[in-house]
Amino acid sequence: MVTDLASEHLAFRKVLRSFAEKEIRPRAAQADQSGTYPEDMFNAMRTAGLLGLCIPQELGGSGGGMTALCLAIEEVCRYCNSAGLMLLLTRLATGPLLLSSNHTLRDQYLPEVASGRLRGSFCLTELHAGSDVNQIATSARPHGHGFVLNGTKAYISGATVADFFIVWAKTQTAAGADEMAAFLVDRDTEGLALGHIDEKMGVRAVPTAEVVLSDCYVPSDHRISDSEGGMRHLMASLNSARPGVAARGLGLAEGALAYACEYARNRTAFGTAVIDIPAVQQMIADITIGIEAARGLVHRAAQMVDRGEYGLEAAGMMAIAKCFATDLAVRASSDCLQILGAAGYMSDHPMERFYRDAKQLQIVEGTNQIQRVIIARAVRDGRLTFAD
Ligand SMILES: Cc1cc2nc3c(=O)[nH]c(=O)nc-3n(C[C@H](O)[C@H](O)[C@H](O)COP(=O)(O)OP(=O)(O)OC[C@H]3O[C@@H](n4cnc5c(N)ncnc54)[C@H](O)[C@@H]3O)c2cc1C
Repeated sequence: MVTDLASEHLAFRKVLRSFAEKEIRPRAAQADQSGTYPEDMFNAMRTAGLLGLCIPQELGGSGGGMTALCLAIEEVCRYCNSAGLMLLLTRLATGPLLLSSNHTLRDQYLPEVASGRLRGSFCLTELHAGSDVNQIATSARPHGHGFVLNGTKAYISGATVADFFIVWAKTQTAAGADEMAAFLVDRDTEGLALGHIDEKMGVRAVPTAEVVLSDCYVPSDHRISDSEGGMRHLMASLNSARPGVAARGLGLAEGALAYACEYARNRTAFGTAVIDIPAVQQMIADITIGIEAARGLVHRAAQMVDRGEYGLEAAGMMAIAKCFATDLAVRASSDCLQILGAAGYMSDHPMERFYRDAKQLQIVEGTNQIQRVIIARAVRDGRLTFAD
């Protein structure tokens, strides 16, 4: 197979594959059924050194960057998308710190995340403001030597186990204009509480919950966006995490296809193996084409992030990778479930779980409709030209 990965990444993939088979695969179904956060999986990923992949070596991580993190996410998601989300959260909650000029907080928290001593959540969405992030109502009012935060964040992944929260809120510039800003709020801060814990369709082992801020005082040194440019900081944080969401879709599609092919080899209908039935072969071929294309996109997007390309110029490519790989995950899980027939619908097999998990990926971190808006604007404005 032709690949764009360096030899050390290919070697790393081999290690990851056997790790995922041994540590993630056996626990995936039970973690989904119980709907409780799998501390044992988290500990296995910690022991394997996977929690600091995207964190630079000088900050206690392995410095593997987004490319290595995407490989790890892809491999664990062949069996368990919740495990992939646990890995993605190591980047989603640290991205705003990595991109921040507040080096004190960065230097303090990132080594803790890399070692697994601390976990973070990314708190942007509110019940009435998802895609339209400008409509968030959470406020950060200057008070004394800090800010008072008020508002409620919704659907926050990993909130029940988070030790700190990256909270996006509206504040004001010196000139009095509205300004987006991120704050790091520790779990035990007075005025921060968890609200409703969601009952959800998929990715059930990583709970989502409301995070409620009621007159929550945060010192000014816990502000991580600069006094101007908060929206740019938010967009760069989201753009640079998108390859990780794409990798979740890619891994899920690979896992679904591998499982369906194995089943179809051993199942017969009308005197032939199901895998030899032309209608089934069409589905297998289409998913395989999608996987090969998605892999190229995920690796390209991840490598761009590792080169520091995640601003407006790169937004279109990040969106293409996220959109394509997560749409693929939904199609692949549906078709692979179909290949198993009734068995695919039952929880004895992982396909119904993959099908439920895949749907989340088209919604999170910018819905796929929003990704298409980003792509179309990038084409319109000449940022995606296909000249190279
Ligand atoms: C399981 C799960 C985990 C999540 N985890 C987190 C988390 O950790 N942190 C966090 O901050 N958020 C999280 N979210 C929230 C997620 O990011 C939002 O749900 C998402 O951004 C969409 O917002 P919304 O649900 O309010 O949809 P809305 O913005 O209300 O959109 C509704 C529909 O309209 C479409 N739409 C809206 N505007 C446009 C447009 N301009 N053009 C085309 N179509 C449009 C959307 O695509 C969608 O289909 C999570 C969500 C889920 C389901």
